[in-house]
Formats: sequence, structure tokens, C-alpha cells
Amino acid sequence: MRVVFIEPKPPFNLYYFLGQLPLLGNLYMGTILKEAGHEVHVLKENLHAAYYDRRDRLDPLVQQADVVGITATTHTVKRAYRIADAIKRRQPYTRVIMGGSHASALPEEALEHADQVVAGEGDPVIRDIVEGRKTDRVVTGMPPDLDTLPALDLSLLAGGPRGNGSKRLSIAPIMASRGCPYDCVFCSVTRMFGRRYRVRAPELVLEEVRRRYREGFRQAFFYDDNFAANRRKTKQFLRMLIDEDLDFRWSSQFSMQAADDPELLELLRRAKCHTLFIGLESVNPQTLRDYRKHQTVKSIAEGMKQIRAAGLKVHGMFVLGGDTDTEETVNHTVDFARRIRCHTAQFSVLFPIPGTQLYQDMQRRRRIFVDDWEAYDGSHVVILPERIRPFRLQKQILRAYKRFFNTSWQRWVASRLGILLWWFTNQKYWRFLKHFDRSGRYDKVKAEAKRIAKQSTQSEASPAQGDTGETATGTATAS
Ligand code: SF4
Repeated sequence: MRVVFIEPKPPFNLYYFLGQLPLLGNLYMGTILKEAGHEVHVLKENLHAAYYDRRDRLDPLVQQADVVGITATTHTVKRAYRIADAIKRRQPYTRVIMGGSHASALPEEALEHADQVVAGEGDPVIRDIVEGRKTDRVVTGMPPDLDTLPALDLSLLAGGPRGNGSKRLSIAPIMASRGCPYDCVFCSVTRMFGRRYRVRAPELVLEEVRRRYREGFRQAFFYDDNFAANRRKTKQFLRMLIDEDLDFRWSSQFSMQAADDPELLELLRRAKCHTLFIGLESVNPQTLRDYRKHQTVKSIAEGMKQIRAAGLKVHGMFVLGGDTDTEETVNHTVDFARRIRCHTAQFSVLFPIPGTQLYQDMQRRRRIFVDDWEAYDGSHVVILPERIRPFRLQKQILRAYKRFFNTSWQRWVASRLGILLWWFTNQKYWRFLKHFDRSGRYDKVKAEAKRIAKQSTQSEASPAQGDTGETATGTATAS
């Protein structure tokens, strides 16, 4: 069968502008199907468009496909639905399957645009779905044993009319683990991959590194959400990588706990890891507790010293707009990021990803005031902050970048350009937010959210009235 996987392109935002890395799910499923004898192409829309809106034309690869799989995040799901609708309108005989974190959390919504939805990990079930052995409208993919997954076949990536998309990647995508033992309130990783941390056999990961090296890659990004959560296996892999002595530099995501282990840091440096992407999140202790982060401001500062002493860089990721955040704590967070000498930093707004506890809470408390999924990318305010007005918080986020990246003229220019581009491409949202803030709508929504919060506090405080309270809250939410 001819199968095409699509990764819809995101609307512009501050972060995606910087990265061109493909989602791994499509590549894994594609590799599995190719090994089973199917003809497969993976279209990452940043490299090769799947659908041309203005001409209402699908790419020839999509036109010839028997099955199209579309994997989207919340931020890209509107584009995914547009592509799925175009396929169904123009060639209704093509089967459309949707997957990814958003469809996994809201399968009913995705089913309005697709024949089938894969909830969870698609690699163990994709062959049965494509070959017609699994025909349920929603198929749940259980977490696979990572050692059974094949090494990624990057030649599946289409790039331009004749090219091989992988040639346009400068950084190799590699995965050594899935899942995370923590459960931060805003994070979708444990909903998607579970809290049981799974690690691939170090030999298999090393084999994949060698393969990427032979293909000409000299840089990689390990997609792991928490690279060193299993210290023993991580160290085993790092020692093997050091023994290989390849000219191969890489980076990955870590939790701050990695900094407690000097041996691990030393191995990382010797294995040519250059940057640790770490969720530092906040300088506000209560916000860290609210996010369920297993770290304190002191442990962050200490950890940063250790990491820097080991000769490694940190890309600090902060999430601003928690319930106890004020304009002052937001400013302090930026000062802190500079003081602890993060090499680079990312300041996201707290936003509720469907499927997370934060999303459920915010929905129940009626604090979501933007329902356009395209704005769910961490650069737009979409929920009512408790102690800052939304428009002020949005301005603070942009200001955070200005303040953080003013240490050299190159950084100054790059950050101003990024902000300007964001501002130009988000004019509609900007006007909406300004109007929301100044027209009195903010006060109405805030008053309603307060009323619901009070109601649920009362029902929690009075168990005898618990049932009544819950019903009242539920009714209010649904109405
Ligand atoms: S530590 Fe990182 S990956 Fe793990 S749950 Fe928290 S935010 Fe998600």
C-alpha cells in the first residue's frame, strides 16, 4: 500500500522559527511499514508541503496515497484538520488516520475529520491499522518495548519535488528513551508516554548514532524528555559513545536532578554533549510547588553551578504565569536566568495542553478564554492568570526575551527580530487581547472564574454538601 505521513506546519511562533526537527512518531511508523513492504513517504511540511491552501491542491504524493496518517500537536491540529478535510473532500477513498498528543487527548474531536484515531503510541498498532486488522474508530496504542523499534529510516522524509528531506536536516533526530518519572501539571509527556520510564538498549542507540554518523550528520538532538532518568543505562551508553570517539556533538533534555551527579556530568562532557535543555520553570517557590516540580530555587542555582563547572551549557526553559506569579516574580525570573548564567533561555506562558491536569482544572474553573488551538504554543496567553492581567503578561513575555538577550549586539538583534516577527504575525491575537483587557470582558470572565472557584472551595470545605457543590460546578461549566 502507499502510505503518506504528514506533520502539519505550525503557524509562525517564536520557538518553531528556530527549529526544523521532525516529529519522531511519523518516522518510526513509516520505518515499520516500509520494512513490512509498504511504500512510505513522510512529509514534514516545513520541508515539503502536503497541501497548498490557495490553490486547494494536494501534493501528488498525497493524491496517490491509499492511507494518510497525520500527526499533530495542539498547536498544529487546525492545519491537520484542514489537510484531512481537503483529502476527504477531494479523494474520499483515501483513508485518513490521525494521531499525536492532541488527537490522543480529544479523539472525538479528531474523528470529525478522520476515519480513525490512534490514541497513545502509534508504532505498535500502525501495521494492523494500515493492513486492516484493527478497524475500531479509536485504536489505543499501548507503550511498546523500545528495543523492538527499528532504527529510523530518514530517507523517508520527502524534501522538495525530487529531494531527500533528510539531506536538509543538519541535526539528526535520535531517541534513547520515552516517558518521564515525574508528572508536572502542565506537561503532556506522561499522558502520552506514561510515567514508566522506558530506555532503549545502549547498544541499539549507539548503532543508530553510528548510522547517522555514516550518513554525514555531525550533530544530533536526543528527543528524550528526560535523558538521564535511568542513570545506570545512561552512563553505560555514554561510556560506549566515548569509546567510539566520533566527531559527533549533541544535546538533549534533562531534569535538574542530573546536576547532582558529578560523574554523569563529566561523562556527558566527554561524550560531546554540549547543551542541557532543562525545565527550570520559575524562581517563585510556590509556583514550583504548584507545577509539581521536584526542585527548589536553591537546587536550581546549585545545579547550574555544577553544570557550568563541568563545561556544559544550559538552555533554561521557564514557564511564566502560574497562579502565584506577579509581574514582580516574572521580572525576578528573568533576572535569575541571567544571574545563574543560562546560555540561552525560553520564556513560555503557562498554557493548558488537552489531556493534562492543568487543562482539566482550567476548564472546570472556566479560566480558558482563548479556544483557538493555534494559540496553544506557549507564546500566547490563553488562560486567565490569577494575579496579572493577560495583556500585561503577554507584554512581559516579550519583554523577558528583550531583557535576557541583551548581552551582545548579535543576541540583541536576533531577539528583536524574533519579537518583531512574532508581533507582525500575531496582529489579530494582539488586537483581541487588547480589546479583551480593556472592554470589560476580562472583568466579567474573571468574576465568573472567581465565583466558580469560591463554589468549589465551599463544596470541598463542606463534605455534607459535596454532591450538591459538584453538581452546581458541573452545571456551571457545561452551560
Ligand atoms: S520533568 Fe519535564 S518531561 Fe517530566 S513531567 Fe516534568 S516537564 Fe514533563
